[in-house]
Amino acid sequence: MTDAPDQRREDMLREMGISPLWRLRAAAPVAMPPAPDAGAGVLAAAEPPPAMPPAAATPATVIDDMDWAALKSCVAGCTACGLHQNRNRTVFGVGDEQADWLFVGEGPGADEDAQGEPFVGQAGKLLDNMLAAIDLKRGANVYIANIVKCRPPGNRNPQPDEAQSCAPYLKRQIALIRPKLIVALGKVAAVNLLGRDASISSLRGKIHDCNGIPLVVTYHPAYLLRTLQDKAKAWEDLCFAVESMRRLQSATLAAT
Ligand code: SF4
Repeated sequence: MTDAPDQRREDMLREMGISPLWRLRAAAPVAMPPAPDAGAGVLAAAEPPPAMPPAAATPATVIDDMDWAALKSCVAGCTACGLHQNRNRTVFGVGDEQADWLFVGEGPGADEDAQGEPFVGQAGKLLDNMLAAIDLKRGANVYIANIVKCRPPGNRNPQPDEAQSCAPYLKRQIALIRPKLIVALGKVAAVNLLGRDASISSLRGKIHDCNGIPLVVTYHPAYLLRTLQDKAKAWEDLCFAVESMRRLQSATLAAT
């Protein structure tokens, strides 16, 4: 007989379309690479501030000193890039402000723009199921944010200048949260956080470095909704992330 937590996990994985692989993948050890890849990323590039910042931008050095309240207020009124023109609401981020886990997507979609919260709608539901499958929950030791805080028109990818303009906010969020592990959701998040172009397939399964914080890469939930065959890979990535977190926590304990 399957107990309730196992049944809950099976239900969630079935919804992700990967239920048959759950026990196989969970039982497999996850290999860790010997050393992190070096990374610069849009966050590192944001300091020092660009030589010609947009006229309405708050200087990155000022953002670097903000507390949560000041940062939220600054984002809410931001007009530093063209994305402010069509937004209904900024989407700051949500969750535990002292979380060990930080999940970063690319930018708000229509539902997020309407509600002011990242990852709502179908992609958000899948992300919540992915979190639950590894015993995590939105808001409990988990923070969720995006590369840009305003919706790109037509759900296109953020342009490099837009990501660059918004980077100081995410950089400050990361500095305030101090997560143990960042999970980049999709290529846009990964290349902006790491500062180099690469395919998702080449970035998966490795620990990267995002300004001193370990980072792993997996697919964006919206992509997974369209691409059934990659859901199994996403599950492998989640297992890798969990194993990476265990090792990071063990290393922290050993150092104290
Ligand atoms: Fe400002 Fe970021 Fe919105 Fe651009 S996307 S207007 S930088 S908050």
